[in-house]
Amino acid sequence: MTRRMIPLSEPVLDGNEAAYLQECVTSGWVSSVGPFVERFEKACAELTGAPHAVSVACGTAGLHTALMAVGVGPGDEVLVPDLTFVAPAYAVRYCGAFPVFIDVDPKTWQIDPLAVERFLAEECELRGGACVNRRSGRPVKALVPVHLLGSACDIERLVGAARRSGLKVVEDAAEGVGTRIGSRHVGTFGDAGVLSFNGNKIATAGGGGMIVTSDAALAKRCHYLTTQAKDDALEYVHNEVGYNYRLTNLQAAVGVAQLERLDARIARKKRIAEIYRECLQGSGIECMPEPRGVRQTYWLFTVRLPGSSLERRQGVVRRLHANGVGARPLWHDLSRLKAFDGCQAYRIEHSRALYEQAVSLPSGPGLTDEEVVFCAEQTSKAVTEAPSAK
Ligand SMILES: *Cc1c(COP(=O)(O)O)cnc(C)c1O
Repeated sequence: MTRRMIPLSEPVLDGNEAAYLQECVTSGWVSSVGPFVERFEKACAELTGAPHAVSVACGTAGLHTALMAVGVGPGDEVLVPDLTFVAPAYAVRYCGAFPVFIDVDPKTWQIDPLAVERFLAEECELRGGACVNRRSGRPVKALVPVHLLGSACDIERLVGAARRSGLKVVEDAAEGVGTRIGSRHVGTFGDAGVLSFNGNKIATAGGGGMIVTSDAALAKRCHYLTTQAKDDALEYVHNEVGYNYRLTNLQAAVGVAQLERLDARIARKKRIAEIYRECLQGSGIECMPEPRGVRQTYWLFTVRLPGSSLERRQGVVRRLHANGVGARPLWHDLSRLKAFDGCQAYRIEHSRALYEQAVSLPSGPGLTDEEVVFCAEQTSKAVTEAPSAK
């Protein structure tokens, strides 16, 4: 008897998704304009409290666009956490700029504000009003703080540090749809924030992203860049190089339906996190941090195997897969990836340990209580059975 692999994060599509898609087909509005695109943008503005929302084909495209719009260009540098899904570092490279990798705080697993402050104070200087990295001689233009795993980084302190050095802030809130610090939604603290509606995120549009901002001119600029930089649409006048980064009405229709059910999804994911915590108590397995004041969504419930080595963590994941638990390691520390050869890593220490020790457990809102208990039990068992590092 083979048990189905319990997936890491699968969407639940039991709302108006099918009805709204039918509406698109019936009306003929299937492409990159249409009523659902507008509704989706409005829904994201309402959700986050940001006055402006610009839809994009995916979160990665949103990050690229927002970075261009705040003025990041070839030869610039942008601060990015060393531990995150790779997209923000890619987006920096798409601009012809270079990521400088910053360590995470071991207490929160999020980008460490102290490390950002130290980098700016010790490695950079102001030259003619611009922040310049003394080692590389390149201007440091922006910071991309990432809100990881449905939790949040210490964004207010990060924005403060960035402002003092004249850096722009593009928040990567791809994993933070529904996440709030106090009552304020993540993605609304910097110059722009980017949400993702990829298939594995807390709400999906099949694929898609949203740039949110309170800056009307920035929103306009993003819209221009994502719609092929049309200066005269009729006469095909283009004064700059643009991008076809628009979201389709079909995708937006799914996104609108998903956001209608967001509160229920978050409630379910909170319950899943509670079950994991209860089941893993006393197992020696460390559950993901709960930063004070953050209203988390537990996008991926992640645990750390203290004292574990890379080999041991890999052994645990293999055992979990063999037993039908679709667990996954937390991201590779980016500074050691070949894609970023030659990019600076600033005093990295903790992101590597998390890569070697942390595992994300199945967290989809469609999981039953029994499945979550099973995943927790299998995790404890795999940790006990995996050969120790010594
Ligand atoms: C998913 C994700 C993205 C990219 O979003 P896509 O919509 O998949 O392009 C960006 N940053 C982080 C941290 C993510 O988890």
